[in-house]
Amino acid sequence: MNLFNFRQIVATGALIWSTQASALHIMLDPGHGGVDTGAVHGAAKEADLVLKVAQRLKKLLEKDTQFQVTLTRAQDRNISLPARVKMAETAKADLFVSLHANAASDQRAKGVEFFFQNNLPPDEESLFLASQENQMILNNKEIHDISGGDELSKKGDIAAILEDLHRQNRMVSSLRLTQTLTHVWNNDENASQATIKQAPFYVISKTSMPSVLIEIGFLTNPREAKKLLTTDYQNDLAQKIYSALLSYKEKIDNHTAKTLN
Ligand SMILES: [Zn+2]
Repeated sequence: MNLFNFRQIVATGALIWSTQASALHIMLDPGHGGVDTGAVHGAAKEADLVLKVAQRLKKLLEKDTQFQVTLTRAQDRNISLPARVKMAETAKADLFVSLHANAASDQRAKGVEFFFQNNLPPDEESLFLASQENQMILNNKEIHDISGGDELSKKGDIAAILEDLHRQNRMVSSLRLTQTLTHVWNNDENASQATIKQAPFYVISKTSMPSVLIEIGFLTNPREAKKLLTTDYQNDLAQKIYSALLSYKEKIDNHTAKTLN
């Protein structure tokens, strides 16, 4: 590698961070919608609950000039997973935050789970959950449009290194975001337990920006489902995610300042 190429890579590496110093554009993705209701248990319907939390979070983000926010869906309508990814890519969003609600055969299962995409093999339970969430896209032709065929193989060495830097940055940022979320939850002794997991969910695997998928609670747990249906708890969830996003933004802004000095 010659010096010019090296400088180019370093400059681009700094650019990946520095682009985040301005308003952080969040693509907020309430899962499911329309005919795809997601998990339904009694009065609790996943598609409705995640939309309510997303709308509350959107209001908080809109009031803060440090953020720009777009919803993949603002109504109860069906959007394919590839279309959600495409929306985030077209808008050049800085972060992709997908909201879902959990269901388990064990009624005792409870708590919030944060999923991020990593290179490590996911555990079997997460794989099973991902296969449920990904069900809607099976046999969908759009997948190919998003993946872009075998374009990667045509790129040169520098492009490949830049791609690698970008992927690493994306993974580290996604992990940092999930850790920040967990930190907010763990700091509230009344909050339900929070766990970080990894799974190949379509939306967090295919987006090129850092991403997290949040399972806001278990609809199969009667106590948790009851809580999730209340406005207070929906506000609390939105407020917690907002706090985590604030702290994440602060961290990357500090990192940018250090990188550029
Ligand atoms: Zn879901």
